Amino acid sequence: MKYVDEFRDEVLIAKEAAHIRAAVNRKWRFMEVCGTHTMSIFRFALRQILPGDIELVSGPGCPVCVTPNGYLDKAIAIAGMKNVIIATFGDMLRVPGSHSTLEIQKADGRDIRTVYSTTDALEIAEKYPTKEVVFLGVGFETTVPTVAKSIIIAKKAGLKNYSVLSAHKTMPEALGSLAGSGLNVDGFILPGHVSAITGTSPYRFLAKIYKKRCVVSGFEPLDILQSISILIKQSPAKVEIQYKRIAAPGGNPKARVCIYKVFEKCDSVWRGIGRVADSGLKIKKAYADLDAEVKFHPRVRPPKEDKRCRCGDVLRGLIAPTECMLFGKACTSQHPIGACMVSSEGTCAAYYKYRGNING
Ligand code: SF4
Repeated sequence: MKYVDEFRDEVLIAKEAAHIRAAVNRKWRFMEVCGTHTMSIFRFALRQILPGDIELVSGPGCPVCVTPNGYLDKAIAIAGMKNVIIATFGDMLRVPGSHSTLEIQKADGRDIRTVYSTTDALEIAEKYPTKEVVFLGVGFETTVPTVAKSIIIAKKAGLKNYSVLSAHKTMPEALGSLAGSGLNVDGFILPGHVSAITGTSPYRFLAKIYKKRCVVSGFEPLDILQSISILIKQSPAKVEIQYKRIAAPGGNPKARVCIYKVFEKCDSVWRGIGRVADSGLKIKKAYADLDAEVKFHPRVRPPKEDKRCRCGDVLRGLIAPTECMLFGKACTSQHPIGACMVSSEGTCAAYYKYRGNING
């Protein structure tokens, strides 16, 4: 099968669900790592067709959600500097920093522009040579290659008014941190597009050390059900690929070469998880002139979180959004309080959008 329609075929979905029902002989708890999985699970009401013995919990795979307040504070500080244009994906606009959002700053007159790619950001830099264009680099291994490429292009072209504020993160280390802290799941439904870049080897330690079953999964309903079937049958724990039409065991070596030409590993702070060793990507010294952190030295006060918001617990799979006292009351998609409600891939946003579909 290769067409999306086939992965949404109701007959095939019902058959796969029946296979799962027949195979389940105990309780299972799996974490769907990626926010796109969470959205798909709700959109296609998969919880309703899965047996009650299978529990799905959402993980930290929404890049906007795991970006901490401190990063937003720095972006806002740079936005307030003279002659700066901030170029960002739209999801970041409403994410709360400690005291404000980029959306509020834009309304206050800061030059903050929504872009759809790094190419857009480079074009803005070319068009306004007397302005400094800062691209907000947020995302996992999937988006980093294009950001790295934009830095290489800018360097080669001598584009001196372009830079990137990097909050890029890598997924395996964060899952290792969760597994190491005693996360109560039997396995991970791994992000298909991130894994298309990384391949399967960076996840092997999850199976080897933590005995977590792993499957790289696509995002259509049949993909997710097939992935659950694979996890239930897997023994011993290992890393398998369900999403074979996109992801290969070796990943995408060319994309990784591009990433590590520009970036190097560093520790990184994840909202809700905290500092995770080697889970971030910072711009190498050779490209320091394109690193907004180095170029602007944004000075910010220690970040503040809204203590009522439980995004951190949601991102660690400890609670469902409905267990947050603000869910659907003070915090809605129209008036979000935490990042998990802002992002289109956020777990709280998924629960809110499909609240009629919440099972249990
Ligand atoms: S419902 Fe809102 S306040 Fe509660 S955890 Fe989610 S984003 Fe935070």
